[in-house]
Amino acid sequence: MLYHSTNNPGLKFSLKEAVFKGLAPDKGLFMPERFVPLDQEFIKNLPSCSVEEIAYQVSNAFFGDDIGKNELMSITLNAVNFPLPLVHIHDNIYTLELFHGPTLAFKDVGARFMARMLEYFTRDFDREIHVLVATSGDTGSAVANGFLGVSGIKVHILYPKGMVSSIQEKQFTTLDRNISALEVEGTFDDCQKLVKEAFNDKSINNRITLTSANSINLARLLPQSIYYFIAVKELGKVPGEISMCVPSGNFGNLTAGLIGKRIGLPVQKFVAATNINDVVPEYLETGKYRPRPSLQTIANAMDVGDPSNFTRILELYGKSCEKISEDLEAYSYRDEQLKSAIRTVSGEYGYLMDPHGAAGYLGIRDYLDRHPSSTGIFFETAHPAKFADIVEEITGQAVEIPSRLQEFFSGTKNTIPMTRVYKDFKAYLEGLINN
Ligand SMILES: *Cc1c(COP(=O)(O)O)cnc(C)c1O
Repeated sequence: MLYHSTNNPGLKFSLKEAVFKGLAPDKGLFMPERFVPLDQEFIKNLPSCSVEEIAYQVSNAFFGDDIGKNELMSITLNAVNFPLPLVHIHDNIYTLELFHGPTLAFKDVGARFMARMLEYFTRDFDREIHVLVATSGDTGSAVANGFLGVSGIKVHILYPKGMVSSIQEKQFTTLDRNISALEVEGTFDDCQKLVKEAFNDKSINNRITLTSANSINLARLLPQSIYYFIAVKELGKVPGEISMCVPSGNFGNLTAGLIGKRIGLPVQKFVAATNINDVVPEYLETGKYRPRPSLQTIANAMDVGDPSNFTRILELYGKSCEKISEDLEAYSYRDEQLKSAIRTVSGEYGYLMDPHGAAGYLGIRDYLDRHPSSTGIFFETAHPAKFADIVEEITGQAVEIPSRLQEFFSGTKNTIPMTRVYKDFKAYLEGLINN
Protein backbone atom coordinates (compact mmCIF):
# COMPACT_ATOMS: atom_id res chain seq x y z
CA MET A 1 0.00 0.00 0.00
CA LEU A 2 1.24 3.48 -0.80
CA TYR A 3 0.44 6.67 1.04
CA HIS A 4 0.10 10.13 -0.45
CA SER A 5 0.22 13.66 0.88
CA THR A 6 -3.07 15.51 1.41
CA ASN A 7 -1.40 18.40 -0.44
CA ASN A 8 -0.53 16.32 -3.49
CA PRO A 9 -2.10 12.94 -4.35
CA GLY A 10 0.75 12.35 -6.82
CA LEU A 11 3.39 12.38 -4.11
CA LYS A 12 3.55 8.77 -2.87
CA PHE A 13 5.46 6.99 -0.13
CA SER A 14 5.79 3.51 1.28
CA LEU A 15 4.33 2.72 4.70
CA LYS A 16 7.81 2.66 6.21
CA GLU A 17 8.66 6.09 4.75
CA ALA A 18 5.33 7.55 5.84
CA VAL A 19 5.77 6.27 9.38
CA PHE A 20 9.34 7.51 9.70
CA LYS A 21 8.61 10.91 8.15
CA GLY A 22 5.36 11.49 10.04
CA LEU A 23 4.60 14.52 7.86
CA ALA A 24 4.98 14.61 4.07
CA PRO A 25 7.86 16.78 2.74
CA ASP A 26 5.29 19.26 1.37
CA LYS A 27 3.83 19.54 4.92
CA GLY A 28 0.73 17.55 3.96
CA LEU A 29 -0.59 14.65 6.02
CA PHE A 30 -0.25 11.09 4.78
CA MET A 31 -3.36 9.23 3.63
CA PRO A 32 -3.72 5.66 2.32
CA GLU A 33 -4.06 5.68 -1.47
CA ARG A 34 -7.04 3.32 -1.25
CA PHE A 35 -9.29 1.58 1.24
CA VAL A 36 -9.78 -2.16 1.10
CA PRO A 37 -13.29 -2.99 2.35
CA LEU A 38 -13.61 -5.83 4.82
CA ASP A 39 -15.63 -8.88 3.88
CA GLN A 40 -19.42 -8.37 4.20
CA GLU A 41 -19.79 -11.69 6.02
CA PHE A 42 -17.17 -10.62 8.54
CA ILE A 43 -19.05 -7.37 9.24
CA LYS A 44 -22.36 -9.24 9.61
CA ASN A 45 -20.78 -11.64 12.07
CA LEU A 46 -18.93 -9.08 14.19
CA PRO A 47 -20.89 -9.96 17.34
CA SER A 48 -19.65 -13.54 17.23
CA CYS A 49 -16.02 -12.72 16.33
CA SER A 50 -13.32 -12.56 18.98
CA VAL A 51 -11.72 -9.22 19.85
CA GLU A 52 -8.39 -10.63 18.59
CA GLU A 53 -9.86 -11.61 15.23
CA ILE A 54 -11.48 -8.19 14.78
CA ALA A 55 -8.31 -6.34 15.75
CA TYR A 56 -6.26 -8.38 13.30
CA GLN A 57 -8.73 -8.07 10.39
CA VAL A 58 -8.98 -4.28 10.72
CA SER A 59 -5.23 -3.93 11.04
CA ASN A 60 -4.76 -6.23 8.06
CA ALA A 61 -7.00 -4.02 5.90
CA PHE A 62 -4.49 -1.21 6.37
CA PHE A 63 -1.14 -2.91 6.82
CA GLY A 64 -1.54 -6.43 5.42
CA ASP A 65 0.32 -5.58 2.19
CA ASP A 66 3.39 -4.48 4.08
CA ILE A 67 3.66 -6.67 7.17
CA GLY A 68 3.33 -10.45 7.34
CA LYS A 69 0.49 -12.11 9.21
CA ASN A 70 2.30 -13.29 12.33
CA GLU A 71 4.18 -10.07 12.83
CA LEU A 72 1.13 -7.90 12.23
CA MET A 73 -0.89 -10.04 14.61
CA SER A 74 1.73 -9.58 17.31
CA ILE A 75 2.01 -5.78 16.78
CA THR A 76 -1.78 -5.44 16.81
CA LEU A 77 -2.58 -7.60 19.81
CA ASN A 78 0.11 -5.88 21.82
CA ALA A 79 -1.61 -2.53 21.14
CA VAL A 80 -4.99 -3.70 22.47
CA ASN A 81 -3.84 -5.99 25.25
CA PHE A 82 -6.20 -4.45 27.79
CA PRO A 83 -10.00 -4.51 28.13
CA LEU A 84 -12.17 -2.24 25.94
CA PRO A 85 -15.52 -2.72 27.66
CA LEU A 86 -18.85 -1.35 26.46
CA VAL A 87 -20.89 -0.10 29.40
CA HIS A 88 -24.62 0.62 29.36
CA ILE A 89 -25.43 4.07 30.80
CA HIS A 90 -29.19 4.44 30.33
CA ASP A 91 -31.85 3.91 27.66
CA ASN A 92 -30.13 3.56 24.29
CA ILE A 93 -26.85 5.14 25.42
CA TYR A 94 -23.64 3.16 25.89
CA THR A 95 -20.02 4.12 26.44
CA LEU A 96 -16.91 2.38 25.15
CA GLU A 97 -14.25 2.75 27.84
CA LEU A 98 -10.92 3.41 26.15
CA PHE A 99 -9.01 4.10 29.36
CA HIS A 100 -7.86 0.69 30.54
CA GLY A 101 -4.36 1.01 29.06
CA PRO A 102 -1.17 1.92 30.94
CA THR A 103 -1.76 5.69 31.03
CA LEU A 104 -5.55 5.49 31.35
CA ALA A 105 -6.36 7.29 28.10
CA PHE A 106 -7.26 6.22 24.57
CA LYS A 107 -3.94 7.44 23.14
CA ASP A 108 -2.36 4.26 24.54
CA VAL A 109 -3.73 2.20 21.63
CA GLY A 110 -2.13 4.28 18.88
CA ALA A 111 1.10 4.87 20.78
CA ARG A 112 1.57 1.17 21.57
CA PHE A 113 0.88 0.22 17.97
CA MET A 114 3.34 2.75 16.61
CA ALA A 115 6.07 1.63 19.03
CA ARG A 116 5.86 -1.98 17.86
CA MET A 117 5.62 -1.00 14.21
CA LEU A 118 8.79 1.10 14.47
CA GLU A 119 10.48 -1.79 16.23
CA TYR A 120 9.46 -4.02 13.32
CA PHE A 121 10.76 -1.63 10.67
CA THR A 122 14.08 -1.11 12.43
CA ARG A 123 14.78 -4.69 13.44
CA ASP A 124 17.78 -4.95 11.14
CA PHE A 125 19.09 -1.42 11.64
CA ASP A 126 22.62 -1.41 12.93
CA ARG A 127 22.06 1.69 15.03
CA GLU A 128 19.54 2.93 17.51
CA ILE A 129 16.76 5.26 16.51
CA HIS A 130 15.73 8.22 18.61
CA VAL A 131 12.14 9.38 18.95
CA LEU A 132 11.72 13.06 19.83
CA VAL A 133 8.42 14.15 21.34
CA ALA A 134 7.35 17.59 22.51
CA THR A 135 4.40 17.32 24.86
CA SER A 136 2.08 19.45 26.94
CA GLY A 137 0.99 16.34 28.84
CA ASP A 138 -1.01 13.43 27.50
CA THR A 139 0.92 12.63 24.33
CA GLY A 140 4.16 12.34 26.27
CA SER A 141 2.80 9.80 28.70
CA ALA A 142 1.14 7.65 26.03
CA VAL A 143 4.25 7.63 23.82
CA ALA A 144 6.67 7.07 26.71
CA ASN A 145 4.68 4.12 28.04
CA GLY A 146 4.03 2.76 24.55
CA PHE A 147 7.77 2.66 23.79
CA LEU A 148 8.89 1.54 27.23
CA GLY A 149 11.25 -1.41 26.84
CA VAL A 150 10.96 -1.52 23.01
CA SER A 151 14.33 -2.61 21.69
CA GLY A 152 16.52 -0.45 19.47
CA ILE A 153 14.54 2.71 20.23
CA LYS A 154 15.25 5.56 22.65
CA VAL A 155 12.59 8.13 23.43
CA HIS A 156 13.27 11.74 24.45
CA ILE A 157 10.30 13.65 25.84
CA LEU A 158 10.55 17.45 25.95
CA TYR A 159 8.05 19.16 28.22
CA PRO A 160 7.62 22.68 29.62
CA LYS A 161 8.86 22.84 33.20
CA GLY A 162 6.08 23.47 35.72
CA MET A 163 3.35 23.41 33.10
CA VAL A 164 2.07 19.85 33.12
CA SER A 165 0.00 18.32 35.91
CA SER A 166 1.91 16.33 38.50
CA ILE A 167 0.29 13.05 37.51
CA GLN A 168 1.08 13.63 33.84
CA GLU A 169 4.67 14.46 34.73
CA LYS A 170 4.99 11.29 36.83
CA GLN A 171 3.78 9.24 33.89
CA PHE A 172 6.81 10.05 31.75
CA THR A 173 9.54 11.09 34.19
CA THR A 174 9.62 7.96 36.36
CA LEU A 175 10.08 5.29 33.71
CA ASP A 176 13.86 5.34 33.01
CA ARG A 177 15.06 2.43 30.82
CA ASN A 178 14.85 3.72 27.22
CA ILE A 179 12.84 6.84 28.14
CA SER A 180 14.43 10.22 28.94
CA ALA A 181 12.48 13.28 30.04
CA LEU A 182 13.87 16.75 29.31
CA GLU A 183 12.47 19.47 31.52
CA VAL A 184 12.61 22.58 29.36
CA GLU A 185 12.82 26.12 30.76
CA GLY A 186 10.12 27.42 28.44
CA THR A 187 6.67 26.81 27.00
CA PHE A 188 5.23 23.92 25.01
CA ASP A 189 5.90 25.99 21.87
CA ASP A 190 9.57 26.24 22.84
CA CYS A 191 9.69 22.44 23.18
CA GLN A 192 8.12 22.04 19.75
CA LYS A 193 10.61 24.49 18.27
CA LEU A 194 13.58 22.55 19.66
CA VAL A 195 12.26 19.33 18.14
CA LYS A 196 11.61 20.99 14.78
CA GLU A 197 15.08 22.50 14.70
CA ALA A 198 16.63 19.13 15.42
CA PHE A 199 14.74 17.56 12.51
CA ASN A 200 15.95 20.37 10.23
CA ASP A 201 19.57 20.16 11.40
CA LYS A 202 21.48 18.26 8.71
CA SER A 203 24.65 17.89 10.76
CA ILE A 204 22.65 16.01 13.41
CA ASN A 205 20.53 13.95 11.03
CA ASN A 206 23.62 12.75 9.17
CA ARG A 207 24.91 11.10 12.30
CA ILE A 208 21.82 10.00 14.22
CA THR A 209 18.42 8.61 13.18
CA LEU A 210 15.64 10.82 14.49
CA THR A 211 11.92 10.30 14.15
CA SER A 212 8.79 11.73 15.72
CA ALA A 213 5.71 10.11 17.23
CA ASN A 214 3.14 12.86 16.68
CA SER A 215 -0.52 12.05 16.80
CA ILE A 216 -0.65 12.80 13.06
CA ASN A 217 1.52 9.74 12.39
CA LEU A 218 -0.32 7.07 10.39
CA ALA A 219 0.91 4.36 12.71
CA ARG A 220 -0.95 6.04 15.55
CA LEU A 221 -3.99 7.14 13.55
CA LEU A 222 -5.13 4.04 11.67
CA PRO A 223 -5.08 1.42 14.47
CA GLN A 224 -7.63 3.54 16.30
CA SER A 225 -10.22 2.21 13.84
CA ILE A 226 -9.99 -1.14 15.60
CA TYR A 227 -12.02 -0.26 18.66
CA TYR A 228 -14.90 1.15 16.61
CA PHE A 229 -15.44 -2.37 15.29
CA ILE A 230 -15.03 -3.80 18.77
CA ALA A 231 -17.78 -1.43 20.00
CA VAL A 232 -20.13 -2.84 17.34
CA LYS A 233 -19.24 -6.37 18.38
CA GLU A 234 -19.93 -5.65 22.04
CA LEU A 235 -23.29 -4.10 21.22
CA GLY A 236 -24.34 -7.36 19.59
CA LYS A 237 -27.18 -7.44 17.10
CA VAL A 238 -29.11 -4.17 17.08
CA PRO A 239 -32.40 -3.73 15.24
CA GLY A 240 -31.82 -0.17 14.02
CA GLU A 241 -28.91 2.07 13.23
CA ILE A 242 -25.82 2.79 15.30
CA SER A 243 -24.39 6.24 16.01
CA MET A 244 -21.06 7.02 17.68
CA CYS A 245 -19.88 10.15 19.42
CA VAL A 246 -16.20 11.02 19.86
CA PRO A 247 -14.83 13.73 22.19
CA SER A 248 -12.55 15.59 19.79
CA GLY A 249 -9.54 17.91 19.85
CA ASN A 250 -7.21 17.24 16.93
CA PHE A 251 -9.85 14.92 15.44
CA GLY A 252 -7.50 11.96 15.02
CA ASN A 253 -9.74 9.59 16.94
CA LEU A 254 -12.77 10.66 14.92
CA THR A 255 -10.88 10.46 11.61
CA ALA A 256 -10.03 6.84 12.42
CA GLY A 257 -13.78 6.20 12.76
CA LEU A 258 -14.57 7.84 9.43
CA ILE A 259 -11.85 5.73 7.82
CA GLY A 260 -13.33 2.69 9.56
CA LYS A 261 -16.58 3.42 7.78
CA ARG A 262 -14.71 3.32 4.45
CA ILE A 263 -13.71 -0.26 5.15
CA GLY A 264 -17.17 -1.30 6.31
CA LEU A 265 -17.87 -0.10 9.84
CA PRO A 266 -21.69 -0.27 10.15
CA VAL A 267 -22.20 3.14 11.74
CA GLN A 268 -24.77 5.50 10.22
CA LYS A 269 -23.74 8.70 11.90
CA PHE A 270 -20.73 10.06 13.72
CA VAL A 271 -21.02 12.89 16.19
CA ALA A 272 -18.01 15.00 17.14
CA ALA A 273 -18.25 16.60 20.56
CA THR A 274 -15.97 19.54 21.32
CA ASN A 275 -15.59 21.99 24.16
CA ILE A 276 -15.87 25.71 23.34
CA ASN A 277 -13.03 25.26 20.84
CA ASP A 278 -15.68 24.84 18.18
CA VAL A 279 -14.04 25.39 14.78
CA VAL A 280 -15.41 22.13 13.39
CA PRO A 281 -19.01 22.50 14.66
CA GLU A 282 -18.88 26.01 13.23
CA TYR A 283 -17.56 24.69 9.92
CA LEU A 284 -20.40 22.19 9.60
CA GLU A 285 -22.89 24.96 10.28
CA THR A 286 -21.43 27.68 8.08
CA GLY A 287 -19.14 25.90 5.60
CA LYS A 288 -16.31 28.18 6.73
CA TYR A 289 -13.18 26.94 8.50
CA ARG A 290 -11.81 29.59 10.82
CA PRO A 291 -8.81 28.31 12.83
CA ARG A 292 -8.00 30.40 15.88
CA PRO A 293 -5.97 30.28 19.11
CA SER A 294 -7.29 27.67 21.54
CA LEU A 295 -9.20 28.52 24.71
CA GLN A 296 -8.62 26.74 28.02
CA THR A 297 -11.32 24.42 29.33
CA ILE A 298 -11.73 21.62 31.87
CA ALA A 299 -11.53 19.12 28.99
CA ASN A 300 -8.02 20.33 28.21
CA ALA A 301 -6.93 17.52 25.87
CA MET A 302 -9.49 18.99 23.47
CA ASP A 303 -8.25 22.59 23.71
CA VAL A 304 -7.35 22.80 20.04
CA GLY A 305 -8.04 25.79 17.81
CA ASP A 306 -6.85 24.33 14.51
CA PRO A 307 -7.38 20.54 14.53
CA SER A 308 -4.51 18.88 12.71
CA ASN A 309 -6.58 16.08 11.19
CA PHE A 310 -9.20 18.37 9.66
CA THR A 311 -7.41 18.24 6.27
CA ARG A 312 -7.71 14.46 6.35
CA ILE A 313 -11.47 14.73 6.87
CA LEU A 314 -11.69 17.22 4.01
CA GLU A 315 -9.83 14.84 1.74
CA LEU A 316 -12.02 11.87 2.69
CA TYR A 317 -15.09 13.78 1.51
CA GLY A 318 -13.69 15.59 -1.53
CA LYS A 319 -13.59 18.88 0.40
CA SER A 320 -17.39 19.02 0.43
CA CYS A 321 -19.01 20.28 3.62
CA GLU A 322 -22.30 18.81 2.43
CA LYS A 323 -20.74 15.36 1.97
CA ILE A 324 -19.07 15.52 5.37
CA SER A 325 -22.44 16.39 6.93
CA GLU A 326 -23.95 13.18 5.60
CA ASP A 327 -21.70 11.22 7.98
CA LEU A 328 -20.92 13.74 10.68
CA GLU A 329 -22.62 16.12 13.09
CA ALA A 330 -20.73 18.20 15.62
CA TYR A 331 -21.69 19.95 18.83
CA SER A 332 -19.76 22.10 21.27
CA TYR A 333 -20.24 22.39 25.03
CA ARG A 334 -19.27 24.93 27.66
CA ASP A 335 -17.50 23.89 30.88
CA GLU A 336 -20.73 24.43 32.83
CA GLN A 337 -22.53 21.96 30.58
CA LEU A 338 -19.75 19.40 30.98
CA LYS A 339 -19.83 19.77 34.76
CA SER A 340 -23.57 19.47 34.89
CA ALA A 341 -23.45 16.29 32.76
CA ILE A 342 -20.86 14.74 35.11
CA ARG A 343 -23.10 15.57 38.08
CA THR A 344 -26.30 14.25 36.50
CA VAL A 345 -24.92 11.03 35.08
CA SER A 346 -23.13 10.26 38.35
CA GLY A 347 -26.19 11.10 40.47
CA GLU A 348 -28.90 9.47 38.36
CA TYR A 349 -27.10 6.57 36.72
CA GLY A 350 -24.16 5.94 39.04
CA TYR A 351 -21.59 6.33 36.26
CA LEU A 352 -18.61 8.63 36.75
CA MET A 353 -17.33 10.40 33.63
CA ASP A 354 -14.24 12.53 33.05
CA PRO A 355 -14.74 15.97 31.40
CA HIS A 356 -13.89 14.63 27.90
CA GLY A 357 -16.30 11.73 28.19
CA ALA A 358 -18.90 14.20 29.43
CA ALA A 359 -18.72 16.02 26.10
CA GLY A 360 -19.17 12.66 24.36
CA TYR A 361 -22.21 11.88 26.50
CA LEU A 362 -23.84 15.24 25.75
CA GLY A 363 -23.13 14.86 22.04
CA ILE A 364 -24.75 11.45 21.75
CA ARG A 365 -27.68 12.48 23.96
CA ASP A 366 -28.38 15.54 21.81
CA TYR A 367 -28.16 13.42 18.67
CA LEU A 368 -30.47 10.72 20.04
CA ASP A 369 -33.02 13.35 21.07
CA ARG A 370 -33.61 13.87 17.37
CA HIS A 371 -32.99 10.26 16.31
CA PRO A 372 -34.58 8.21 19.08
CA SER A 373 -34.51 4.94 17.16
CA SER A 374 -30.71 4.98 16.90
CA THR A 375 -28.45 3.22 19.40
CA GLY A 376 -25.73 5.57 20.62
CA ILE A 377 -22.19 4.89 21.79
CA PHE A 378 -19.91 7.61 23.10
CA PHE A 379 -16.22 7.10 23.80
CA GLU A 380 -14.90 7.63 27.30
CA THR A 381 -11.36 8.75 26.36
CA ALA A 382 -9.81 9.10 29.85
CA HIS A 383 -10.31 7.64 33.30
CA PRO A 384 -12.02 10.14 35.65
CA ALA A 385 -9.15 9.66 38.13
CA LYS A 386 -6.89 11.51 35.69
CA PHE A 387 -9.05 14.55 36.34
CA ALA A 388 -9.76 13.80 40.00
CA ASP A 389 -9.62 17.45 41.16
CA ILE A 390 -12.35 18.56 38.79
CA VAL A 391 -14.50 15.48 39.13
CA GLU A 392 -14.36 15.45 42.95
CA GLU A 393 -15.30 19.10 43.11
CA ILE A 394 -18.37 18.42 40.98
CA THR A 395 -19.63 15.24 42.63
CA GLY A 396 -18.40 15.92 46.17
CA GLN A 397 -17.10 12.37 46.30
CA ALA A 398 -13.57 10.98 46.25
CA VAL A 399 -12.58 9.29 42.98
CA GLU A 400 -11.03 5.88 43.40
CA ILE A 401 -7.51 5.96 41.96
CA PRO A 402 -6.70 2.77 40.00
CA SER A 403 -3.58 0.97 41.14
CA ARG A 404 -1.69 1.51 37.89
CA LEU A 405 -2.10 5.26 38.32
CA GLN A 406 -1.04 5.02 41.94
CA GLU A 407 2.13 3.22 40.91
CA PHE A 408 3.23 6.26 38.92
CA PHE A 409 2.84 8.42 42.02
CA SER A 410 5.28 6.29 43.96
CA GLY A 411 7.94 6.46 41.21
CA THR A 412 10.92 8.81 41.46
CA LYS A 413 11.05 11.73 39.05
CA ASN A 414 14.20 11.69 36.96
CA THR A 415 14.68 14.49 34.42
CA ILE A 416 17.38 16.25 32.43
CA PRO A 417 17.31 20.05 32.71
CA MET A 418 17.24 21.82 29.34
CA THR A 419 17.16 25.44 28.23
CA ARG A 420 15.06 26.62 25.30
CA VAL A 421 18.21 27.42 23.32
CA TYR A 422 18.82 25.03 20.42
CA LYS A 423 22.59 25.01 20.92
CA ASP A 424 22.05 23.29 24.28
CA PHE A 425 19.61 20.72 22.89
CA LYS A 426 22.05 20.05 20.06
CA ALA A 427 24.80 19.37 22.59
CA TYR A 428 22.48 16.87 24.26
CA LEU A 429 21.85 15.11 20.92
CA GLU A 430 25.57 15.05 20.16
CA GLY A 431 26.11 13.38 23.51
CA LEU A 432 23.83 10.57 22.32
CA ILE A 433 26.01 9.98 19.28
CA ASN A 434 29.18 9.55 21.28
CA ASN A 435 27.53 7.04 23.56
C1 LIG B 1 -6.19 13.52 23.02
C2 LIG B 1 -7.50 13.41 23.74
C3 LIG B 1 -8.74 13.71 23.12
C4 LIG B 1 -8.82 14.26 21.74
O1 LIG B 1 -8.50 13.30 20.77
P1 LIG B 1 -8.20 13.76 19.26
O2 LIG B 1 -7.83 12.51 18.56
O3 LIG B 1 -7.08 14.76 19.34
O4 LIG B 1 -9.44 14.39 18.75
C5 LIG B 1 -9.90 13.52 23.84
N1 LIG B 1 -9.88 13.08 25.12
C6 LIG B 1 -8.71 12.78 25.75
C7 LIG B 1 -8.76 12.33 27.15
C8 LIG B 1 -7.49 12.94 25.10
O5 LIG B 1 -6.34 12.67 25.73
